[in-house]
Amino acid sequence: MAMAMRRAAALGARHILAASVSASSRVASRRHMGSVDAGAAMEKIRAAGLLRTRGLIGGKWVDAYDGKTIEVQNPATGEVLANVACMGNRETADAITSANTTFYTWSKLTASERSKALRKWHDLLMSHKEELALLMTLEQGKPMKEALGEVNYGASFIEFFAEEAKRVYGDIIPPTLADRRLLVLKQPIGVVGAITPWNFPLAMITRKVGPALACGCTVVVKPSEFTPLTALAAADLALQAGIPAGALNVVMGNAPEIGDELMQSTQVRKITFTGSTAVGKKLMAGSANTVKKVSLELGGNAPCIVFDDADIDVAVKGSLAAKFRNSGQTCVCANRILVQEGIYEKFASAFVKAVQSLQVGNGLEESTSQGPLINEAAVQKGREVCR
Ligand code: ADP
Repeated sequence: MAMAMRRAAALGARHILAASVSASSRVASRRHMGSVDAGAAMEKIRAAGLLRTRGLIGGKWVDAYDGKTIEVQNPATGEVLANVACMGNRETADAITSANTTFYTWSKLTASERSKALRKWHDLLMSHKEELALLMTLEQGKPMKEALGEVNYGASFIEFFAEEAKRVYGDIIPPTLADRRLLVLKQPIGVVGAITPWNFPLAMITRKVGPALACGCTVVVKPSEFTPLTALAAADLALQAGIPAGALNVVMGNAPEIGDELMQSTQVRKITFTGSTAVGKKLMAGSANTVKKVSLELGGNAPCIVFDDADIDVAVKGSLAAKFRNSGQTCVCANRILVQEGIYEKFASAFVKAVQSLQVGNGLEESTSQGPLINEAAVQKGREVCR
């Protein structure tokens, strides 16, 4: 590229990173101060029957077989929100069996019947928007406004696939020999293992479960151990919507054990995963032995480029959104900002100013535009980058 670009790391990004990390540290250092609203929020979720702490296997809420639990913490305060079942290979094996058994009935329903159940699930997600958003803010940290946006976004996948359920068409292909007929029939593949990350506790699940259920597959979901509560609440609403026991199972806890069980099972026919490249590679390799289909959404690498002729206000607003959505914890968050020479100084000072005006805090507070990072390890990682 002939034009001179400067990597914002030289000036702006250092300030920006420093601002964002110290902001996150500020939230981390407010741990144990508690949040005035958290108790009321939990009460609201509990009253709606959406505070689930056990896994879901074959339509039943079950504890870990050895009774183990893991803590789910509020990253804004460090408070323990709940202790959830810490499951492993035995519970996963049972969840797979239940999904496999249900596959034979769920896949035999008409597309219209599956569509109706999914539509109802969508409607229930939307009518519990506030409780789901509160739960998400409590366990993941994102500001309520972003959490409410995620419920809309997450539910939209169920709505979309409820509609698409009726449009899984086959095809007729012109044959190369006159006495042959070539038909494409689309059929559900079987049990799907869905492993999801913590940054979008609802949407990553609905985006995987929606299409699987729509076409007649059954699912074993393993949400992140940092954010299982939203997943369990969504699964509760799926049951209420009439999605049959065993069609959607949720296990969480010991990730490698659960992953290995899903990998080695001959009943699991597909793995869908969003997360790190390192884990994705393991899952891909582990799926080879049983020749599973694999869909992976890994890592992220997202440069943001600002050219000389950019409108500064638009560029700052856009870059801010790209860099700081979910406190910089999405796979498409800008990880470097390249600015053309002519606009660099102006952009850098406007951007730094904009970053300094971001309001860091507990996502339950209305003024907060930046919630905490997910955990202490993420804060440390940010500090390393700043050094
Ligand atoms: P991130 O860095 O975004 O947290 P991870 O890949 O570590 O991404 O986590 C994404 C999901 O993968 C989480 O649900 C996590 O528990 C799960 N996971 C982590 N390690 C394994 C593993 N060995 N097998 C299966 N799932 C795993």
